[in-house]
Amino acid sequence: MKAKITLLPGDGIGPEIIVASEKILKRISEKFGHEFEMDSQHIGGIAIDETGNPLPDETLDSCKKSDAVLLGAVGGPKWDDPNASVRPEQGLLGLRKELGLFANLRPVQPHPQLLGASPLKESYLEGTDMLILRELTGGVYFGQPREKRINANGEEEALDTMIYSESEVFRIAKLAFDIAGTRRKKVTSVDKANVLESSRLWRKTVAKLAEDYPEIELENLLVDAATMHLLSRPRDFDVMVTMNLFGDIITDEASMLTGSMGNMPSAALGEGLNSFGKPRGMYEPIHGSAPDIAGQGIANPIGMILSAAMMLRHSLGLSSEAEAIEKAVDAVLNAGHRTSDIAKEGESPLGTMEMAEKIISAL
Ligand code: NAD
Repeated sequence: MKAKITLLPGDGIGPEIIVASEKILKRISEKFGHEFEMDSQHIGGIAIDETGNPLPDETLDSCKKSDAVLLGAVGGPKWDDPNASVRPEQGLLGLRKELGLFANLRPVQPHPQLLGASPLKESYLEGTDMLILRELTGGVYFGQPREKRINANGEEEALDTMIYSESEVFRIAKLAFDIAGTRRKKVTSVDKANVLESSRLWRKTVAKLAEDYPEIELENLLVDAATMHLLSRPRDFDVMVTMNLFGDIITDEASMLTGSMGNMPSAALGEGLNSFGKPRGMYEPIHGSAPDIAGQGIANPIGMILSAAMMLRHSLGLSSEAEAIEKAVDAVLNAGHRTSDIAKEGESPLGTMEMAEKIISAL
């Protein structure tokens, strides 16, 4: 197969983990006889520095022409001035919107060898295997109006708008029910319906759709309770579906079930199809640019590498190749290799590229 992939290293540890995943993809292409044409482009802070625009036209153009996009991370203290007119995150949010990537799939499967790396007791974690589905192009991250202004008291105030239409809720909830049908047949919908009007519409729409899926159990949780249940009974969840803001927060919490944010991959899918008739997805680890460890070569590349595996499966239809990467990561963790974020006291951790090399050897 010949596929076009846009690489967006971005900022902080982004370039370090992208290089690691590029090497893995190169090994996969040699092993399975594929040709991956990679085009690396700027996004986020580096794009602001180079062009003044967090999502340059050239980047957007490359993503639209490619079969899939791999992204490292964007942002960092250099671009954090609250008065700045352009911000790195605008590049990422703009790209999700432009590519119509409304669904973010975030699998949470604590690795048996890493149960000890989580702050939760092992007895709570065993058997946990869930998929969090976060709505990605709606809600308070995109709602209008959003502005800073001076109020009647002469004081500065700011507002954002949390807004969802029925169709936006419907399409993400439908995906949740469809995916649950291929798994353990349970959907947990997370909202704040006791307070927010947008959440009441969310809950009503999900309930209506559930009538078409009598074989799927539907559980509704308020987001505050959901954050607690996620820690007290993680193995009860199968597919959890929620809106953009709550999904952003809950998945960072869920990452600690796996021991580190550095372990968790994600796929952003939408309606746009690529040259193979598959979703033109964007794949990225769930963590940010980790400025506290950037440039040190110690970032955990596993979330990024597993994101590349998700890309092979969902956008390129290469399931065996995806599985080969997942098995190689398993083998390396089973052999006791760890980066510093998941190493126990006394263990000597591997750097980013050393970990990638171990995975390549296992491939
Ligand atoms: P973060 O996810 O970057 O880091 C949180 C903590 O986890 C840090 O201590 C970091 O060192 C650690 N960590 C994260 N990824 C790791 C990895 N692969 N290996 C080892 N340790 C890892 O979150 P933050 O510090 O709140 O945000 C930093 C910047 O990233 C901010 O500018 C934020 O806006 C941005 N951000 C970007 C994205 C994205 O690009 N998708 C997502 C979240 C945050």
